[in-house]
Amino acid sequence: MKIGLIGLGIMGKPMAKNILKGGYTDLLVSDLNQAAVDEVVAAGAKAASNQEIGESCDVILTMLPNSPHVKTVMLGEGGVASYMKPYATFIDMSSINPVASQEIAAELAKKGVEMLDAPVSGGEPKAIDGTLSFMVGGKQEVFDKFKPLLDTMGGSVVRCGDVGAGNTTKLANQIIVACNIQALAEALTLAQKAGVDPQLVFEAIRGGLAGSTVMNAKAPMMIAGNDQPGFKIDLHIKDLNNALDCAHSVGAPVPMTAQVQEILQWMHNHEGGQKDHSAIAQYYEYLTGIQIGR
Ligand code: NAD
Repeated sequence: MKIGLIGLGIMGKPMAKNILKGGYTDLLVSDLNQAAVDEVVAAGAKAASNQEIGESCDVILTMLPNSPHVKTVMLGEGGVASYMKPYATFIDMSSINPVASQEIAAELAKKGVEMLDAPVSGGEPKAIDGTLSFMVGGKQEVFDKFKPLLDTMGGSVVRCGDVGAGNTTKLANQIIVACNIQALAEALTLAQKAGVDPQLVFEAIRGGLAGSTVMNAKAPMMIAGNDQPGFKIDLHIKDLNNALDCAHSVGAPVPMTAQVQEILQWMHNHEGGQKDHSAIAQYYEYLTGIQIGR
């Protein structure tokens, strides 16, 4: 099976290497960043243009920033879709608006091309380990055919429904993570203002009902003042914008999402969007004049 992968950023690069390690060695890759292409070629892939990928690959994967990038690469003038054969399949692993996934799938269906939307959770460490969680939308038979390929990059690969269901699930994930991070920052700020050591608060409650993967990953960062990304504020703003768009189009109420989005936007405006999303704690530090854990 000839595979194409477009988008070799923080996530796409290690995912390409895991596809190769998984025994799928006929891999063509492309990215605007030549250094990223060179690194993956050194690991065993071949560099190719988007046209070559479209013309020759049985399955084409993308790992791009957002809906407009995926639409341009696939459906823009001279886009990959214009070269794809009817038997080929498109799997988009980017986190994009589920409405956009459905629009792309509808365009590809006119050419007889099947599509899965297959965003991931887990970040760079799990992309490197090959233990990402995939949330997949698309036909069952297409999912069954390509699950072994996704297994080379993921520890969990779950079909959530038809095309768009993968990205809808990802939006749910991103809402839960964002609201958890904000609650954690608010709670640790309260503890510090009330004179209780946030580190001891974390140790006392992490095993109880309030404990979470978010708390375990982000409380130590907030307490140490470590804002190295991880997952950047700007990417989370992008995901929550997609959540708000989707919610408005289906009539779902999302007041918590709207509120955390405003605070992340404040962070973008005042601190830049390149810090880890746990730096939302700095918004509370700005309001109170304290520094959590220090
Ligand atoms: P990134 O910005 O590091 O990588 C995106 C890559 O796409 C870049 O290398 C860029 O050069 C390339 N690109 C952009 N336009 C292109 C084009 N027209 N043709 C070819 N290449 C093009 O982003 P990332 O962190 O790898 O994230 C990719 C997707 O995965 C995003 O949707 C993100 O939300 C999602 N995601 C990221 C993480 C994370 O922790 N970074 C975790 C889960 C999901």
